[in-house]
Amino acid sequence: MGTFLTRGQAPAVEAARVMIAAGVPQALLLVGPGSVGKTTLGLDIAAALFCRAENPADRPCRECRGCRLLAHGNHPDLHRLAPEGPGGQIVIGQVRSLIQEVALLPLEGPARVALVESAHRLNEDAQHTLLKTLEEPPAGLTLILAVDDEDALLPTVRSRCARVRLGPLPARAIEELLVEEGGRDPLDAAKIARLAGGRAGLALAYARSDAALGIRSELTRSLLDLFDRGCAARLAGVREGLARAAALQTALAPPQAPEGAPVARPGRRGPKAASAAPSPGAGAHGDADSLREDEAGPAAGSAVRGTAADRRRAAAVLVNLWREVVGDLVRVQLGDPGAVREPDLLEEYAALAPAVTPADLGRFLARLDDAAVRLDASAHPELLFDVLALRLPRRAVAA
Ligand SMILES: [Zn+2]
Repeated sequence: MGTFLTRGQAPAVEAARVMIAAGVPQALLLVGPGSVGKTTLGLDIAAALFCRAENPADRPCRECRGCRLLAHGNHPDLHRLAPEGPGGQIVIGQVRSLIQEVALLPLEGPARVALVESAHRLNEDAQHTLLKTLEEPPAGLTLILAVDDEDALLPTVRSRCARVRLGPLPARAIEELLVEEGGRDPLDAAKIARLAGGRAGLALAYARSDAALGIRSELTRSLLDLFDRGCAARLAGVREGLARAAALQTALAPPQAPEGAPVARPGRRGPKAASAAPSPGAGAHGDADSLREDEAGPAAGSAVRGTAADRRRAAAVLVNLWREVVGDLVRVQLGDPGAVREPDLLEEYAALAPAVTPADLGRFLARLDDAAVRLDASAHPELLFDVLALRLPRRAVAA
């Protein structure tokens, strides 16, 4: 049987195996939360399409020339596209370059694969451009779109794609991955898997960085402390939090690839919009969609610090963490402490839970959701955070 590197996604892998046996549709949507393995599955499918094993059930064999070229990140018929530049969008120019490349005949075999990561970041113009290729795909081309949120795609784009769904990974699968590939002992692995909430790629990034784990823990604690602070301290606290969130992104970023090595990570990509360059081992859970961009994505590899886009991404990291902290507090209020992400903070949560009302927390969570949406368009995330800091419910002082 063909060897898939995708983990913990049995139904999705099964669906892919059926497609490989029966013929992969020319346009495929891989739908699921960030960091659960969409890119890895996309690369598994690409490997199967490039594989020369005689029996389709044995594809990808991981041994033939097609499989090896893909594994080493230099299969000339694989084209990858991911968000880049300010705003973290995939823009029309990138899609145009991709379309030009995929219009050529395959160099190695009968198949060409275009893999669009974070395709929910395709802006509307880019989607319209892509639509023409979806309507009349060149022979031999398989277009794979990995999306966190398929509602971000035009209905006309969605309707032309077959769909494979991926879900959050079971904690157990992530723990195994962290032991095998993250070099962690089972106890650590369990702790990190919990933090990552079903996102394998993010869990691996944490497993590889004690610095990131340290910053995360310090950040969540400081967000929890904000309930007790006055206005001035809250405003200072969120500014400091934004700086630390940027540091967290950097700490989660994968190590720099050696000079000249192909790197598929958005933000470190060369000027060419689409390139056939998955990083070595990218198929192994790894890279590409391993980190949601709002957790550690494009900015992670960016050499430019403090650009507007970097600040927005740091802000997205902080909003996410804040949601997690407030969400955990609500879980404790609801009598479900077993579900909190950071059991180390349970005592603090338990002490705070009776001193804020669930209704206030619910309203604040809605504000955080709203902020997460508005961040994309916000030129000044700091202002959003100032408002959030002031709106955070206060701990009621016992009489
Ligand atoms: Zn093969």
